[in-house]
Amino acid sequence: MKSVDEHLDDCLRGIAPLDPIELQLLDAHGCSLAEDVVAPWDLPNFDNASMDGYAVRFEDLDAVRAGTPTEFPVYGDIPAGRPSALPLAPGTAMRIMTGAPIPDGCDAVIPVEWTDGGLAHAVFDRAPDLGGFIRRAGSDVRQGVTVLEEGTRLGPAQLGLLAAVGRDRVRCRPKPRVVVLSTGSELVEPGLPLQHGQISESNSFALTAAAKEAGALAYRVGIVGDDPRRLLDTIEDQLIRADLVVTTGGVSAGAYDVVKEVLLRLGTVDFDKVAMQPGMPQGRGTIGPDSTPIFTLPGNPVSAFVSFEVFVRPVIRRMLGVEPLERPTVRASCIEPLSSPQGKRQFARSWLSVEDGRYVVRPLGGQGSHLMNDLAHANSFIVVPEVVTEVPAGGTVTVMVLERRLS
Ligand code: AMP
Ligand code: MG
Repeated sequence: MKSVDEHLDDCLRGIAPLDPIELQLLDAHGCSLAEDVVAPWDLPNFDNASMDGYAVRFEDLDAVRAGTPTEFPVYGDIPAGRPSALPLAPGTAMRIMTGAPIPDGCDAVIPVEWTDGGLAHAVFDRAPDLGGFIRRAGSDVRQGVTVLEEGTRLGPAQLGLLAAVGRDRVRCRPKPRVVVLSTGSELVEPGLPLQHGQISESNSFALTAAAKEAGALAYRVGIVGDDPRRLLDTIEDQLIRADLVVTTGGVSAGAYDVVKEVLLRLGTVDFDKVAMQPGMPQGRGTIGPDSTPIFTLPGNPVSAFVSFEVFVRPVIRRMLGVEPLERPTVRASCIEPLSSPQGKRQFARSWLSVEDGRYVVRPLGGQGSHLMNDLAHANSFIVVPEVVTEVPAGGTVTVMVLERRLS
């Protein structure tokens, strides 16, 4: 039997980040940047008001500073987007709005809250510091500095920054396109009635969503029966839109295990037993004229999910060009005893939480690979090493964190 680490190495072998392309900003959401982005101008680009109020000269405000509210004539309005044509004359003020350019001669802004809000004349009750309520050009970003480095994952705030420095397109690595299909003649689309012996197909929903969360563009193909010709035809049809193919089911040693039967014949996919629980039967290789990577995961829902997490998610992240490839792990105290098969790495569904500032983890229910309910209530997997068969209550374990949902 192969170890989990050996199989992961094999899965990642030959997988490289996808070639960069130019994308419109919103299409680049979730992609990794393939260029260093340099600010072409200062941010802000010009001195501007940080509050609605009055543009003033600091030196005119001695009386106000000394505690005497003073009336000033107000010569004009400066809305955002409309610079003042005239400089600020000594002894006067101008009404100015947040984000509007500071007129020449002005070196402070008085927030409207410190005034009577007058239009032709305004009384100022308090004086700002020199430069008060002015956002200086370049105080956020200086022209010429690198604001985002190659390899940065583009989330909402990064897209905002790119737009702020004037970028409408950006060079980045596209999201890998992942095609998910499930095999099994017992499978029925959810929503349709079931005959005895049939089950609602579920793996492809879980894995398509998991692939999206991993950063891929994922396509659910749905159900293919245990029919060799249909399986091959379907995979071939899908290759046009696939950087990666994921199948579930049909890789055990049973009769009708059609994935194994068909793909073994092609000679480009290897089937192995991996020393893990759940998820022992695994296949990986390439298919089609472009040698598209294909991963054939076991059919049991928990096995399929764990296999995806452990082997396919790192592959998607490698294609995206983001690090780290693997889920974060923490060390936690296991509050219930747990047994684990000798010689296999166990991924036990679990609930991780923080108690008294320490991580504690509770294994959830049984470890049967069909137990989807426990999987759906887990936020983590306890990873029990191959050599460990018993974890006592209170023992320290490594926990792979699936989501930040901690109680
Ligand atoms: P297999 O690997 O094809 O032998 O399937 C193993 C078990 O997983 C069987 O009980 C199947 O019915 C079940 N199974 C396979 N594929 C799916 C699927 N897409 N959704 C839900 N259960 C599945
Ligand atoms: Mg099957």
